[in-house]
Amino acid sequence: MSERPVPAFPGLLEEMTVEDVRAFDPEVVVLPLGSTEPHGPHLPMGTDVWQVTRLARLAVEWANSRNARVLLYPTLPITNNVNFRRFPFALRVGVRTLMSMLVDIVTQCRDDGVRKVVLVNGHGGNPDTIRATLREIAGMDDMPFVCSTGGIPPKGWQSPIEHASDHGGENETSRMLWIRPDLVREDRFADNPFGRLAVPLLAETNYVRPWHLYVPVSAGGETRASSAAKGRAVTEAGATGLADLLVELSATPWSERFPYE
Ligand SMILES: [Zn+2]
Repeated sequence: MSERPVPAFPGLLEEMTVEDVRAFDPEVVVLPLGSTEPHGPHLPMGTDVWQVTRLARLAVEWANSRNARVLLYPTLPITNNVNFRRFPFALRVGVRTLMSMLVDIVTQCRDDGVRKVVLVNGHGGNPDTIRATLREIAGMDDMPFVCSTGGIPPKGWQSPIEHASDHGGENETSRMLWIRPDLVREDRFADNPFGRLAVPLLAETNYVRPWHLYVPVSAGGETRASSAAKGRAVTEAGATGLADLLVELSATPWSERFPYE
């Protein structure tokens, strides 16, 4: 009998058997959060899922190649999205539902013996809920340590993105040109408009933007300077520091004082 080849990417839960997982004995779980929602006329609805999955896979692959034991969960494809509700098929669960899902998933990590959980978020509708959930979990006894990030570029890193946008702009378009160019409609690249605030000082406050008014075509900003090279640079930068974090979390033993020495 020939020996089973060493998997190219240990830690990818979806591709492991139950015996693989037991033998792997993970120290850290990574849960990516995506979204399925409109991204303008040029990007697919699954953009946030593709992006965060690639980011998390890169980081976990790099970390585990440095002897970390990080288990990567499948990406949550449906999360918070009330601000997109005037567009069709902006898939969503409520704030309380997402909180409950995250608490349940973290609770099961504890039950399966994992004490460190990293939420990797790729969708702008989620950070408020994630932060509230971390508070909720901090108030519960005997729960794992949980932190969240959207990626950690190296200190001093300069982004190649020339046109800022918080949805469907040059950054996301470049990432998708690298990850799934077959799904990008380059013939629909444009400078997509943003809504202008009637009260400019609201920009200094917290509020939930109605996105059908903020980004009328469901994406905003200039996309014609997008490139796969930029998308790769941005994604790999975010994965670099995230991989470092995962290596250190994996190597640091759990104690009642965690995250302190
Ligand atoms: Zn997006």
